[in-house]
Formats: sequence, structure tokens, C-alpha cells
Amino acid sequence: MPNSPLVERDLKVLWHPCTQMHDHPAVPLIPVRRAHGVWLEDFEGRRYLDAISSWWVNLFGHAHPAINEAVRRQLSEFEHVLLAGFTHEPAISLSEQLVALAPPGLTRCFFGDNGSSAVEIALKMSLHYWRNVGQPQRTEFVTVAHSYHGETVGALSVSDVGLYKAPYEPLLFKAYVAPSPDCRLRETGMNCAQHAGRALAGMKEILARHAKTVCAVIVEPLVQCAGGMRMHDPAYIKGLRALCDEFGVHLIADEIAVGFGRTGTLFACEQAAIRPDFLLLGKGLTGGYLPLSVCLTTDTVYEAFFADYSTGKAFLHSHSYTGNALACAAALATLEIFAQGDWIASNRGLAAVMGDALGALRDHPHVASIRQTGMIAALDLVADKATGQAYPGRERRGLAVYRYGLEHEALLRPLGDTLYLMPPYVIQEDEIRKVVEVMAAAIDQATA
Ligand SMILES: *Cc1c(COP(=O)(O)O)cnc(C)c1O
Repeated sequence: MPNSPLVERDLKVLWHPCTQMHDHPAVPLIPVRRAHGVWLEDFEGRRYLDAISSWWVNLFGHAHPAINEAVRRQLSEFEHVLLAGFTHEPAISLSEQLVALAPPGLTRCFFGDNGSSAVEIALKMSLHYWRNVGQPQRTEFVTVAHSYHGETVGALSVSDVGLYKAPYEPLLFKAYVAPSPDCRLRETGMNCAQHAGRALAGMKEILARHAKTVCAVIVEPLVQCAGGMRMHDPAYIKGLRALCDEFGVHLIADEIAVGFGRTGTLFACEQAAIRPDFLLLGKGLTGGYLPLSVCLTTDTVYEAFFADYSTGKAFLHSHSYTGNALACAAALATLEIFAQGDWIASNRGLAAVMGDALGALRDHPHVASIRQTGMIAALDLVADKATGQAYPGRERRGLAVYRYGLEHEALLRPLGDTLYLMPPYVIQEDEIRKVVEVMAAAIDQATA
């Protein structure tokens, strides 16, 4: 069966995310017939290696037998019940396990049904905490340049990615934007840790000026993903924790993209040996199966809400599908897969292969800033390697890479002109080499 009948039907009724629909059908729309492991397959039998884990959600491959079985088992009991006044074993077990795995002191789990919701939950919880403890003047937030925290209005307000944000500015609240710790921006002669120190000095200035009115600082630890796979030294996160303590504000760690082993440790915060006041997880939480997110927080925060109803201190936030049982079952199966293998160690091997394969592109005249943190590797296409001059955005060189990839069995979906690999952990070494070869040929063609 050809792809075209589905594509035609689709283009009449669907409006796709993060897509200028005008690009279709010149840019092919691919209907997926089935997916298995790292491979997606269309109706014409063509395959695509999912090198970006279906937007960073998939950890152990598509159609994983153990996760399939866990969801099926839960389905035979019940699919979903409200989580207010009622509870269920999958939500309880998942909370227990997350509390055990997270940095010590994060003892409470509040579920949402997507990443952006988890961000909204943390922002509201932090503000409401300060109100409950008699500091209602704290209503502001600090974010880091080039941050991305989701698309809903609050999450967008604390994001700093102009492309996604600009049209909606009139709707958004103002957040203070601290300088970027992105190591690429360091001055010559500086290392990443020194550059992190410089960025922290900028953060300190903001906190010193606004310490009385700020609720929290929100950060993506180690890798700012949607902002262009910008990586920083763990010293930044360590220093940020110290600054938040010094000025008495919360630290929100958004690990929605980097949690669950992406950066080389189960949680990125571990590399800085810190505990945030709020830890946000989503995406890989269910192994890429079902939408679920969670905001973990401390006893201190929890207790500020725990009072007689008449005090008005309760956190009355809710989402219909909070703690969905099928999603919790998928998440538990995902944690079980983690428990049964040493994925952190095997990822170290895969990450080394990724780094080695990408190393071959180091001298390419249009490739700059090859960088890697664990299972995330990225590079930038540049017009001029010596000056780092970018291509004009309208040339859409990254899109050319995407199209070339589709013709050569690789799903590479660059962020502008930033190319990256963020594959499921079940990718084979030869598949990594193959996908990097496709990437190299795609770069040659896109920059010719
Ligand atoms: C994807 C992402 C979000 C938003 O999650 P959604 O499930 O897409 O709403 C928030 N923060 C970070 C760091 C992300 O990468």
C-alpha cells in the first residue's frame, strides 16, 4: 500500500505540531505503519532509524515487549480513575520508586499529564509556597538564556527561545533572564567550568537585586535541549544551588528531556551532587509510551500546604488524566527495565561510539562545535568555520539534512542548523556508525 492515501487524508484534517503546514507536501509526510526497536516503518516498506527517540521520549525502543505487556496487564484491570479521593497501586508504586531514585529529600510526587504541565505545577507550587509561608511579595521567576520549558503560557514565560515565544509576548509574564552557561560562548583560554563561573556571576547579580521578590530559578541541568543542544559544565548547577540557598529562593530542575539516563547519570542533577527543590520529569518517564509527567518536591514545600482546609493553603491544581494508570504501568515497566540492566554503563559504551563516529566530521569545513553529554551529541552547520558565521535561516540547511536523512533510512530532525543524535538506548553500535555516515553525507549535500 502506498503512503499517499493517508497523506492526502491527513493534509485535509490535521494540523501538525511545530510545523509550517505550507511545507507539506513538498516535505514528505510519513505515515508510520509500525515501529519496532529503533526503527519506524512506513506503508511502502521504507524504514527510518529514530535517531531522536521520537522527540526525546523513547528510551528502550518502540513496541518493547515488557512495556507492552505491562500496559496490557493494567488494561485488563482498569484504564483510568480520578486521583482525588481515590488512588491505585501503579501510582503508589511509581511514586515510591521515584522518591527512592531521585536525589534524597525529594519525597512527594505530584503528577501531571505532559511536561509543560509539570512546569506549570512547579511554578504555581513555588509561588503558592511563598504565599503560604507569609511572603506573598514573591511572585517572580528567573530563567537562563536559551531555556526551553514547554509551550503553555507559564512554561513559555520562563522559556527564552524567541522562535517559539515571540508572537505570544503580550500573553506572557516577565521573567529575569540570566546569562547562558553554554560552553560554546566561553572566551578563548577559558574552560567550561570557568565559563560557568562567569554565568553564575550574572545570575548572582539578578538574585542580589531581586532576592525579595523571586520565587524560584528554573533550569535545564547540563543540556538546554530545544534551545539548540547547548551544554554546560556541572559546576554551573552546583553553583546555582549554592546561589539559590544564599538568596533563599527555590531551584526548579527541569529534567523532562535530560532525566532517565540521557546525560550519563540517571538524573543530570547527580553530576552536580545537588538536590533541587522541584524535580520535573516527563518524556522518558513512560519509556515513550504514554503522556505522563511528575513534579517531585520536598517535605518543606509539602508541609507549607498541609493545614486545615479553611486556611486556603491547599494546592487545588488538577489535570483530568493526573496519574493515569496505564501511563503509570508503562513508567513502572520502564523503571523495571532500568533495574534489570546496567544501562548507564552500556550507554557509556554507546556514547563513546557516537563521539568517535562524529569525530570524523571534526575537520568538515561547514561543521562546528561538535559536543556531547552522554547520549546527546550535537553539532552546528556553519557557513564559515573560521568565524563561526551561521547560514542565513531562510536557507534552511537543516531542513535539507532532514530530507536527505529520510531518503537514507534516518530520522534526523535538526533544530534549525543544529544537528543532533539522541537515540534510544537499544541502538546498536553499527547503527550509530550508519546514522552518522548518513548525517555526514547529508551535511555534504546540504552545504554544497
Ligand atoms: C519537552 C520539554 C518540556 C515540555 O514537555 P511537553 O511534554 O512537550 O509539554 C519541558 N521542558 C523541557 C526541558 C523539555 O524538553
